[in-house]
Amino acid sequence: MTPEDALQKYFGMPSFREPQRAIISAVLENKDTLVVMPTGGGKSLCFQLPALLLPGVTLVVSPLIALMKDQVDALQARGLPAGLLNSSQTLDQQRDTLRAIRERRLKIVYVAPERFRSASFLNALPQDAISLFAIDEAHCLSQWGHDFRPDYMRLGEARKAIGGPPCVALTATATPDVQADIKQSLEMHAPAEFVAGFARDNLSFNVRQTSSEHDKLQAIERLIQQHSTGIIYCATRKSVDAVATKIEHLSASVIRYHGGLSDSERNAAQDRFISRQANIVVATNAFGMGIDRADIRFVCHYEMPGSIEAYYQEGGRAGRDGQPSVCEMLFSYADKRVQDFFIEGANPGKALVAEIYDLLCATSDAKHEVRLSVDELCERLGRKVNPMAVSSALSLLSRQNWIERFDIPGQRLKGTRIQQVGRAGRDLPIDAAALATKAARDEDRLKAVIHFAYAQSCRQKWILDYFGERNSADCARCDCCRQSKHRSARTLSKDETTIVQKALSGVARMSRNLGSDQWAARFGKRKIIQCLLGSQSAAIRDSG
Ligand code: ADP
Repeated sequence: MTPEDALQKYFGMPSFREPQRAIISAVLENKDTLVVMPTGGGKSLCFQLPALLLPGVTLVVSPLIALMKDQVDALQARGLPAGLLNSSQTLDQQRDTLRAIRERRLKIVYVAPERFRSASFLNALPQDAISLFAIDEAHCLSQWGHDFRPDYMRLGEARKAIGGPPCVALTATATPDVQADIKQSLEMHAPAEFVAGFARDNLSFNVRQTSSEHDKLQAIERLIQQHSTGIIYCATRKSVDAVATKIEHLSASVIRYHGGLSDSERNAAQDRFISRQANIVVATNAFGMGIDRADIRFVCHYEMPGSIEAYYQEGGRAGRDGQPSVCEMLFSYADKRVQDFFIEGANPGKALVAEIYDLLCATSDAKHEVRLSVDELCERLGRKVNPMAVSSALSLLSRQNWIERFDIPGQRLKGTRIQQVGRAGRDLPIDAAALATKAARDEDRLKAVIHFAYAQSCRQKWILDYFGERNSADCARCDCCRQSKHRSARTLSKDETTIVQKALSGVARMSRNLGSDQWAARFGKRKIIQCLLGSQSAAIRDSG
């Protein structure tokens, strides 16, 4: 039977969606296959249909028992031989399913990932009967995914234990880091890779180079005049308040949303936006999850976001109804400082974590408890420390069960209880190299945002390339596509070349050389221009 016949016969669908047919061919050829497609793209068919055509059983690993049951019910309703194995079943039911696998009465069996913890379960699976190992929600394999599940880590071993069948891994999370982790962890062999369906044909991505708050506010004013509904993302709470105050006169319904508001204030703001009483939101990235409003016409990033992943997810909230909508980033290199501060705050090194643990031990009372705020801890460290880094260190210590955080009745402040009394920070079982790798990844993600902002090629294509979706066409909607119609490269005259060389030399001399071709900016564009023009202003002279 051909895949086309099976599609009609078993699923009652007339044709494949792009690129289901190619994926199914790869799977049927016993290739290891990685599939990254957005939610709703039709990933299930890519393992369910081959399962029916392959000679043995397909095991499908899926993280949510409820989801598993829905899928199995739907397959059984079509009269297809599907079953499941998870901890919600009785031992008898599990034994029945295993027998059905051995007797080849089932073609598709959904298995919860924690089953693979049990050696007796692995031994009970007949090795020669398994044709395909399918991993749904495969981003759960990656520590860099948003939904890491330790049970998924064992799947590479499990695959070997069941005789090393070909493997298909599927996810909607497209980051290259996550894809690399999936391939490595499952030891995929020269996999066929499909990343598709992430383009947003109704969005136009624009980056506006801005050099002052005034530029940015003017840009927002234009956006609000042209489109009545939108989200303005700011990097910090402070910036949310400042921007909201300055634009309140432009629209009758501006609301603000950030983590510094109380739960009830946040809920009220969100309700007003969803119910269309308010149409403009100024918010930090805390806003957006579960916002079900399809007519958002623009998403503006007032400051650069920390990653392309965040940018695309936040920008992607525009135009869910399919109508033309705009994503505009107001870019100023100087805003990088805020993101640098966040990266530093999210990545305390092992030394700082150990130091904070020792400080907690030294200040704890007879019950091994400490009641100090993050700011007080910073003060006691006796030098300038990023308070976010101290918070992150506390979270890390708590995840490692070295401390326990507890509520103090009637206070916002949380208390800390030492769990490993008598031990020192230097004994912490933390992998310093892994922490450093994570910090480096965060920095690379931020660098990608800056490259994106300076790019001169199609923005949609740039983003799809970043996620690994190759060979897309130019969008013809973004700022770069629109400008390229009017732009043609020409060779510089000799004088122009000299000016460019002088300007670059000025930039280099006003930057710090970090070695190995890395430079850190110390001054903004304005100062560099003033200096090149020979300004004698106090600010220039004082900077030496
Ligand atoms: P994903 O797992 O990627 O989120 P699903 O596999 O749940 O997506 O598919 C989403 C919907 O699309 C389902 O209702 C499914 O039946 C439907 N679908 C998938 N492939 C096709 C197809 N070739 N033709 C018609 N409908 C399809």
